[in-house]
Amino acid sequence: MSIRTAVIIVAAGRGLRAGAGIPKQWRPLAGKTVLDHTLAAFQGQVDRIVLVIHPEDRDLATRFGVDLVDGGATRAESVRNALEWLEPFGCDHVLIHDAARPLVSAKVISAVKSGLQTHIGAAPALPVSDALWRGESTVTGTQDRTGLWRAQTPQGFRFAEILAAHRAHGGTAADDVEVARDAGHTVAIVAGDEDNLKLTYPGDFARAEAILKGRTMDIRLGNGFDVHAFTEGDHVWLCGVKVPHTKALLGHSDADVGMHALTDAIYGALAEGDIGVHFPPSDPQWKGAASHIFLRHAVGRAAARGYRIANCDVTLMCERPKIGPHQATMRAALAEIMGIDMDVISVKATTTERLGFTGREEGIAALATAALVRA
Ligand code: MG
Repeated sequence: MSIRTAVIIVAAGRGLRAGAGIPKQWRPLAGKTVLDHTLAAFQGQVDRIVLVIHPEDRDLATRFGVDLVDGGATRAESVRNALEWLEPFGCDHVLIHDAARPLVSAKVISAVKSGLQTHIGAAPALPVSDALWRGESTVTGTQDRTGLWRAQTPQGFRFAEILAAHRAHGGTAADDVEVARDAGHTVAIVAGDEDNLKLTYPGDFARAEAILKGRTMDIRLGNGFDVHAFTEGDHVWLCGVKVPHTKALLGHSDADVGMHALTDAIYGALAEGDIGVHFPPSDPQWKGAASHIFLRHAVGRAAARGYRIANCDVTLMCERPKIGPHQATMRAALAEIMGIDMDVISVKATTTERLGFTGREEGIAALATAALVRA
């Protein structure tokens, strides 16, 4: 069966400039190897992935589950080996990519594939925006940057044309675009991406890790719901504030229904159950415990798991007492307990139009949402 689009990932180099004594494509990057990231970028984007490796790396590379081809003495020879290997399958298009560009985005890959609808070759690049100088330790001249581009990969081609061009190309070429152009083919420039950097020097790894960290932002949401019935008394505790009322709320501890819902939202975001799991009501030591102990525990669990509370939102449902006059105090009280800014804490209230148990003033219900992000 013929292949519409294949990618050749060139990973045969032994380049040690990036430090650490091992070839850069095998170096760790954000918990995996560089090659893991590069291969992942092409999963689902092409019909076949061919990885060109140094023969000594074959054992290391089998775990990737992609087709492996041994590289040659030069990059051009490596690419040609892979093209010759693919030839019997009958490919329409081939993308040729450097393993040392692990951050290539789906957008860049798509742009190259689109370019191939109208051109024999298409490759991503960025216009040069910095001033260009000539010189050694001092500036001896300037270079007009008009019309200059910084070339990236993957460089894409119609398969038959690039195979023929590589077979015919005797000399050295900077990249596959040069090979195609030397054969007389036109190569379209498509939009590159500043993040599609080529790992070359040790500092490039730190930059790549920072970019990956931003991409894999880990956000968790949780909700909580709680109800407490009214009993006799002269105040209720809501979101850490003592509010005078003609009734009290019944329950273990201070029956702070708002704080309980919020605590459960945080446990929920962590998928760690609810208050009852961490503070069993059957355990006498929690009888009458202040609710801020629960909330502090949930926030502590989030921190221990590497999360911070991005924001939270509590809605109290009751006819009375009126919440409005206490909203700011409640937000400040929760901020103090949680150790976060009150700007990210919302407390609001609604009646239920005299409907249901809250409408009949039999109790108060509270709903809360919390968003956690990996710190
Ligand atoms: Mg409760």
